[in-house]
Amino acid sequence: MIDLTIAQTNQGLKEGKFSATELTQAYLDRIDQTDDKLHSYITITKDLALEQAKKVDEAGDFSSPLSGIPMNLKDVVCTSGIKTTACSKILENFVPPYNAHVYDRLLDAGAILLGKTNTDEFTHGSSTEHSYFGVTKNPWNTEYVSGGSSGGPAASVAADQCAFSIGTDTGGSIRQPASLCSCVGLKVTYGRVPRYGVMSYGSSFDTIGPFAKTVEDAAIVLKAIAGKSEKDATTPDVPVPNYTDFLKEDLKGVTIGIPKEYYGEGVEQETADVINEGIDVLKKLGAEVIDISLSLTKYAIPTYYLLAKSEASTNLARYDGIKYGHTTDDAKELEEIYMKSRQEGFGDEVKRAIMIGTYALSAGYYDAFYLKAAKVRALMKKEFEDAFAKCDALITPTSPFPAFKIGEKADDPLAMYMADVLTVPINLAGVCAMSIPGGFSKDGLPIGMQIIANQYKEENLFHVGHAFEKATEWHAKKPNL
Ligand code: GLN
Repeated sequence: MIDLTIAQTNQGLKEGKFSATELTQAYLDRIDQTDDKLHSYITITKDLALEQAKKVDEAGDFSSPLSGIPMNLKDVVCTSGIKTTACSKILENFVPPYNAHVYDRLLDAGAILLGKTNTDEFTHGSSTEHSYFGVTKNPWNTEYVSGGSSGGPAASVAADQCAFSIGTDTGGSIRQPASLCSCVGLKVTYGRVPRYGVMSYGSSFDTIGPFAKTVEDAAIVLKAIAGKSEKDATTPDVPVPNYTDFLKEDLKGVTIGIPKEYYGEGVEQETADVINEGIDVLKKLGAEVIDISLSLTKYAIPTYYLLAKSEASTNLARYDGIKYGHTTDDAKELEEIYMKSRQEGFGDEVKRAIMIGTYALSAGYYDAFYLKAAKVRALMKKEFEDAFAKCDALITPTSPFPAFKIGEKADDPLAMYMADVLTVPINLAGVCAMSIPGGFSKDGLPIGMQIIANQYKEENLFHVGHAFEKATEWHAKKPNL
């Protein structure tokens, strides 16, 4: 049961081959058997899951494709009455009083919550090594990282510990771990999914999207969570299409751009070779392939880290030891409470964000850093617009290299930031992208293919991704646990 896709599971439930309760129990057993090795889950909501499943079985209505489908949420998505920690000591025991809008939409669709999954603290990172609760390991080789920040969601989907998961992507946190663990990870257009109730990293970058076993499954989940929300003013009233209508098996009439800057310096040859083989598959499916140049790519890392950490430094200001979370035992007056609670509650990478961001925003440096980076961002956005005047989608590797060893980059923040070199430009431009299984390294580690499309063109991602998936076997390979 647990290796079925959402579409197949829905069919099984409709035909009465198994009940939602049996299905939920099977996933809970799987978590039980494998999570000691992986550590994807921070909280397992067993009783709630079985209760939700029972209700679905009693109602017996499987007309919604997500009815009775077990999932998990990254632990920055607020769930009323259930601990939501951001994997930070500062929120170690935080229980939100309300649900994120995305969780409410999934509940309305009939989905079942198995638990909350691991992330780098407040989603800052690319390896899940910055989680206060410890690293999530890669299901393909547990000496390697699962990627990040959504390491828990990615590993849990790749290891069949859920049918799908919801993560967040500010600079690559859905696509990069999906690439490192071999599953589908979708970073939507900025504004496509409401952010209400999801803890912020950088508010002008943050997006919410699914991890799934197939492209079709990602399309099904997106349909349930996308669209305007009264609770999030950054969600415009753009219609939500039936994304599954775009799942075709050939690419006739589709133009695909190859931005050469995404295959150059810093990208491992083996990774580039795997993606180039993938491009040959797309050609065989009928796509026209053209060369594109995105010449500003080299500025993406400094531009992103300046802007995102600046936004983060203001978003993290709310954790003051009084309104939420951890309060120091060791302070006599107000200012000391703020300082000591934050000093004790935040980990290194989050402190780094606060320092970089506060510095870049300070009066004397604002023009030199923040404003300049904001201008570069506008130029990068324009460069993507020009590219999408010529093609329907771009194809690149998702990550410059496959999973790295746990500890390998932990003490070198700049080396860690380079893991995002191929994903952050997409968040700077606000367009959409998806990572799909694209192949494996000679050491048996997954390599993801990134498909990028213009704003509100998620259907192009699904079209290209589905056709590639149907023509290859990579998505069907499973880790041995
Ligand atoms: N690794 C990147 C960062 O630390 C991206 C994180 C994310 O997308 N949340 O900023």
